[in-house]
Amino acid sequence: HTKNNGRNGYTFFQPSMNMQAQSQLQLNNDLWHALDNNELRLFYQPKYCAPRGPILGFEALLRWEHPARGLLTPDHFLPMAEKTGMIVSIGNWVINEACRQLRQWHLQGHPHWSVAVNLSSLQFEQSNLVETVTEALAKHEIPPELLTLEVTETTAMRDPDESVRILTELTKLGVKASIDDFGTGYSSLLYLKRLPASELKIDRAFVNELQHHSEDATIVSAIVALAQSLQLKVVAEGVETAEQQAFLTGLGCNTLQGYLLGKPIPPERISELDNFVGTQENELKTELHTVN
Ligand code: C2E
Ligand code: MG
Ligand code: MG
Ligand code: MG
Repeated sequence: HTKNNGRNGYTFFQPSMNMQAQSQLQLNNDLWHALDNNELRLFYQPKYCAPRGPILGFEALLRWEHPARGLLTPDHFLPMAEKTGMIVSIGNWVINEACRQLRQWHLQGHPHWSVAVNLSSLQFEQSNLVETVTEALAKHEIPPELLTLEVTETTAMRDPDESVRILTELTKLGVKASIDDFGTGYSSLLYLKRLPASELKIDRAFVNELQHHSEDATIVSAIVALAQSLQLKVVAEGVETAEQQAFLTGLGCNTLQGYLLGKPIPPERISELDNFVGTQENELKTELHTVN
């Protein structure tokens, strides 16, 4: 097991600990250090109006520039941050940083771009989330409708009544809510109708298999139809091929996201994306090297 002494005390190894416990503890200590020493980064993946533009906004995706291990994706450290609760501090940092970046884009002449932030279930359940969001919007002078909060279908359906309550409070601020990884959880359609979300994101697992499995094409069509009947926007994530792009556009899917259109990139490289709109090939699709 791992011990979490919280923010004030880094924990020291006990000789009796096994290797796995030690490396978890090391990771935990390193992550607190990362938060304090600005090693966390947000990369941004463009969301395109189907089929290929204009850019509507970006999803903020967390990265850790680890001094020894290189750039780490969330699967390397978020599960542990969830377990220890550190995700709440990290998540608050993410909300603030995304708003700061949005303000920058505003000042640089992109007043219509939006930003989407992923919320972990623990963060979603924090009683001060509304306060955190309110403060971040005010501090960076962000029109609330330009901020989208993504919660997964699984998180949203864990305690549906509670989710309706939380999302109602959040959307009263004017921010938008999006149901992420849709299709992988177990939605009650009754609650889906009641959730004040404005968008469904089709999980990339279904998009991936569109051309290979007719069931996936059927599921995707059904999700798009469901979203349309509930008057929700529908975003497809993980679009990697021109065939997927054409199929989704044909169904009436409004927004596309995926490596075909743009990988998550650091904000300083976003200006390069403009030239990409409307073309097929590009050199920009390479995400910074990920070292494990
Ligand atoms: P997600 O929110 O569903 O984000 C989509 C993931 O799919 C991202 O992985 C993205 O890089 C990847 N992706 C996008 N397009 C494609 C594609 O065309 N092909 C493939 N193969 N992958 C694609 P990433 O950045 O590793 O993030 C993984 C998950 O970590 C996210 O899934 C989200 O659940 C979580 N996450 C990321 N950033 C944050 C954050 O700031 N806070 C929280 N709580 N969770 C985060
Ligand atoms: Mg997401
Ligand atoms: Mg997703
Ligand atoms: Mg996902």
